[in-house]
Amino acid sequence: MDDSCPPPPAQTTPLFTFGVIADIQYADIEDGSNYKHSRKRYYRNSLQLLRNAQHTWSTSAITPRFTLQLGDIIDGFNKRHEASDEALDTVMREFSSGPVQVHHVWGNHEFYNFSRDTLFRSRLNSSTAHCECVTDRQGGLQADGIYAYHFSPVPKFRFVVLDAYDVSLLGREESSVQYSNALKLLKQHNDNEDLNHPPESEGLERRFVKFNGGFSKEQLDWLDTVLTLADERSERVTVVSHLPVHPSSTDPICLAWNYDELLEILHSHGSVVCFMAGHDHDGGYHRDKDSGVHYLTLEGVIETPPDSDAFGTVSVYDDRMVLKGNGRIADRELLFP
Ligand code: ZN
Repeated sequence: MDDSCPPPPAQTTPLFTFGVIADIQYADIEDGSNYKHSRKRYYRNSLQLLRNAQHTWSTSAITPRFTLQLGDIIDGFNKRHEASDEALDTVMREFSSGPVQVHHVWGNHEFYNFSRDTLFRSRLNSSTAHCECVTDRQGGLQADGIYAYHFSPVPKFRFVVLDAYDVSLLGREESSVQYSNALKLLKQHNDNEDLNHPPESEGLERRFVKFNGGFSKEQLDWLDTVLTLADERSERVTVVSHLPVHPSSTDPICLAWNYDELLEILHSHGSVVCFMAGHDHDGGYHRDKDSGVHYLTLEGVIETPPDSDAFGTVSVYDDRMVLKGNGRIADRELLFP
């Protein structure tokens, strides 16, 4: 090695930045707790934490290109109080106060509040937003009721939004074939009366609960095609979904049903650099050692105390992404494989 030749200076200006936030679960109700009563939930204050995030993004030196909202934007309790539309209006007003376009992911709480058809026609369908970067706005998947799309904010970088409730009891009509297939699958693994209660068995089987779901073969094939094209174009791809798919990045009770099939596809494409999810409010992170892909599960706003925060800003460089976390979200450097 020639030590007279200094290393190139580290790239200091990012190519672009974007915001990330998960599980806002806003509702205009008193604070409560999670299912196991082990965590407090701050239903009203979640709006203030979104406001904090918006303030940071709209005043930062580099305006983020977009924000990824990783699902569960309002809480299922809104449905019980017939306040779904009002709660969504409140949160969307907050989002639209900022300068940044939002890409929305759908989680279980979206389906507690709205039907799949309603969601497709709503502001939470960001695949139809006026955006030159959405490449297949008329994509065939949506004709079959699957909410998945991809976009490229700058050349050589692509983001894929997945529908983790494509195979699920949530968001599917009880009379549909999809519903009966999902019920059959769930009951093969979970014999509880209350299917939101995980099966007795330890470990990964606990993912077979009603509040989770999975990816149909149609969606997996579509993803495979999108990633093949990305490989050919030497792009860096970040895939997002509400449900985590790597067992080491989450509590198994939050894992997608057929996480293994999704992992197999992600790991067969060199273009994939990162996978981001929400749903597990405690967050998680794992780097797959063979593929080098980063699996990030973002801490949820809803279980974040009012004196803290839960959002991040990601700066993207040629060789890495740098997550600047706020509040209980840690800073991370995500080197590309
Ligand atoms: Zn969720």
